[in-house]
Amino acid sequence: MNPLLFWFGSLAGLAAAFVLLPEVRWIVAILAVPYVAVFVWGIVDLRSNFFVRAYIHNKGESFAVGLTFDDGPDENITADILDLLKRFGFRATFFVVGVKARANPQLLKRMIADGHVVACHDLTHSLLSNFRLGNAMVRDIAAAQAIVRDIIGAKPLLYRPPVGMANPHLGPALARLGMKCVGWNRSARDAGNRRLGNIRRISSLAVKPGDVVLLHDSLPVAAHKAEILAQMELLFSRMRDAKMVPVGINDLFDITAYKVDNAR
Ligand SMILES: [Zn+2]
Repeated sequence: MNPLLFWFGSLAGLAAAFVLLPEVRWIVAILAVPYVAVFVWGIVDLRSNFFVRAYIHNKGESFAVGLTFDDGPDENITADILDLLKRFGFRATFFVVGVKARANPQLLKRMIADGHVVACHDLTHSLLSNFRLGNAMVRDIAAAQAIVRDIIGAKPLLYRPPVGMANPHLGPALARLGMKCVGWNRSARDAGNRRLGNIRRISSLAVKPGDVVLLHDSLPVAAHKAEILAQMELLFSRMRDAKMVPVGINDLFDITAYKVDNAR
């Protein structure tokens, strides 16, 4: 059964019972509260693992950490971040936006050459993408996947939805595309490098081994650039002092990042 149909169908059933059966209205209302709460939680928080299984953090014993960068590549900051990562000898995972990848293919090639992992973060980073259903969702993600494949020569298999939202269609859509969903458990909530106050908290993130850290290689406000890079450098220094070993998300979770697709 279509999962969205099930959820909205059962919600509609509860609403109908509320209207048509006034004598049991209070029972219906009590049932509906956790039902709606779980539904909303499943949509807004990948950690719920409710509509899709998401890789959030690794409880293993090693000092490996997943550094992830969303919303790029950006011609004004991604190369600086790649320089910084190279200086520290850190590996990271870049969840790239399809249309930005198409506009900056050289940055994706450099990510690969530097030993990083390239993954998908939707085609246009539209919030609406999270509300697409069935085939429309598959088409959107597949288009982003194809752009990356054409640039790096391998089909990316890791996906992070915009803003980390899920819906009942995301799991089946990713299964059709052979992709896995990756979330995170550590973030400064910088809103894609928009909130300066939160950018200033990046260096003090309490990163622990096994964590997946969400950072952004986007620059919506040019004046934030120096602070973003300074904060990242401080964070990386602290991680190095703590003997942490940033690795690609594929290595952190022992999952496959690409499918080499000769047939195209
Ligand atoms: Zn994003």
